[in-house]
This record gives sequence, structure tokens and C-alpha cells, in this order.
Amino acid sequence: MKPPSARPLLMKFIAMGLTPAETRARARLLMRRAVLSHAGRDRSEDPEAELNRIEAALRRIDEGRYGVCDECGEPIGAQVLLANPASPVCSGCAAKERHTSA
Ligand SMILES: [Zn+2]
Repeated sequence: MKPPSARPLLMKFIAMGLTPAETRARARLLMRRAVLSHAGRDRSEDPEAELNRIEAALRRIDEGRYGVCDECGEPIGAQVLLANPASPVCSGCAAKERHTSA
């Protein structure tokens, strides 16, 4: 099965009333999810963990909470979301998390 093409998805999300940023993020998340769910189990990273983050991000888009940090409630920077559309936290909280868990 080949991954879905972005264009019809984008048209559908715009029709759903999502913002351009949410539209782009949602399309990227769905494509990533399609790739991951067809990936083999012989990868070094854990596809389940990333799939969970993707599902959570898709849920946040549907609930209108996308782009807001789970930890501090501040907006997650556009740069962070471009690099990782599934990121649940802002760069500040992500750095803190890395410090405490390392
Ligand atoms: Zn934060």
C-alpha cells in the first residue's frame, strides 16, 4: 500500500475548518503514521512510541489544543512543530525533560 498523497488530505482539512498550520501538521502526522504502521519491526527506534505521540497530536488538533505545550501551556514554537509535528511540549520544556531524565 502506498502512502496517501498530501493534496486531497490538505483540501479535506481546509474544508474541516483547520488553520493552515494545523492542516499542514495533520497531513504530515497522517503520512508519518502511514509510513510507521507499514515499517518493519527491525528498526532501532520504537515505532509504537512515535505512533502514540502522533495519535496524541492528531487528538490535540481535533480538540483545538494543537501547538500548546502540555507542560507549561505556552505556545509551542513554529520551528519545533516544523521539525517535529508530534511534539507535545515547547522547546523549553523539552530541554528540561532531557535534563531531568538524563
Ligand atoms: Zn512548555
